[in-house]
Amino acid sequence: KKYYNMVEDMKKIRVFCRIRPVNRNEAAQGGVIVVDKIDEFSVTIDTPRGQREFQFDKVFSAEASQEDLFHDTNLIQSAIDGYNVCIFAYGQTGSGKTFTMVGDKEQKNPGLMPRSFNAIFDIIRENSSKFDFKVSAYMLELYNDRLQDLFVSPAGEAHAQPQSHGQARRVEIKRNRKGVVFAQGAETKEASSAQELYALFQQACANRHISATMNVESSRSHLIVGIRVESKNLTNGSVSTGKLSLVDLAGSERAAKTGAKDHQLKEANSINKSLSALGDVISALSAELPHVPYRNSKLYATRVKAITNNAQRNVESKEIAQLKEVIMKLKSGQSVEDVD
Ligand code: ADP
Ligand code: MG
Repeated sequence: KKYYNMVEDMKKIRVFCRIRPVNRNEAAQGGVIVVDKIDEFSVTIDTPRGQREFQFDKVFSAEASQEDLFHDTNLIQSAIDGYNVCIFAYGQTGSGKTFTMVGDKEQKNPGLMPRSFNAIFDIIRENSSKFDFKVSAYMLELYNDRLQDLFVSPAGEAHAQPQSHGQARRVEIKRNRKGVVFAQGAETKEASSAQELYALFQQACANRHISATMNVESSRSHLIVGIRVESKNLTNGSVSTGKLSLVDLAGSERAAKTGAKDHQLKEANSINKSLSALGDVISALSAELPHVPYRNSKLYATRVKAITNNAQRNVESKEIAQLKEVIMKLKSGQSVEDVD
């Protein structure tokens, strides 16, 4: 039963592709969109080794609006209904992750985060006669494999620990007795309106690390916004808790390409490590493998559910381990002939 529950869970992963329009600089240099063919579920691009087609659950063209994206990926209702929902953006620096998740700087084109904040409180308002809601949030940054609480100002902490050059309080991934994985030490703040939630988000962003390796807009850390929605049924008193995680990942480019040095190289390596661990999780989920290597990086360990962990332990077997090895080897371009 646990196994089937887990397989059901896996089907709930969806991958969308968004094509960014060519910007002014790129256009001035004769840049064009490299996508050769696009339809609702696939894109084809020309590569030096010929045409390659990629399948998605949905493809958004360069003309798609922020509203289109929010509308078609909308999982807010599920989070309020008590599910754990996570939406994240993956791609190279400059590919449009922050634009998609957060929006432009002036917020003329708000992205998924501010839209989600509004949607949460819209749904709450519509249901306030039947439910009592409590919304709380934590905001974290994963930088060099360290989780940091963005509600704690780095300046304040630096004062207390002069050696730490501005690192906020450490947050650790822990598992409680029920097997639920959580971020210990992360401060949670309540919000009673979308505006309050957005103000918390702005406060968190002000506490982030920024290093301008490739472009000034780029961030070399992962941003994790967790919103917990607790709803109490006023008729029968039952309480359910759902969670929405919104993640703006660091750029996926390789260290070699960025021309980074020393601490920047360490930074890029740890980004690549966490992103490739993430890739392994996605491969395992999409291949419906019973073992999903969630615990290999703090990046997603926070959202592993107890059921998945238990099921994972129960069904892990030699064959699966071998299959996993094959996948890892194929991914890194190695031969798989030596695997049984
Ligand atoms: P990333 O976070 O992946 O590094 P950004 O979101 O910062 O990339 O996008 C790079 C630049 O392109 C920004 O100036 C952003 O405003 C712009 N941009 C990204 N996606 C779009 C889009 N869909 N429409 C218009 N401008 C975009
Ligand atoms: Mg960004």
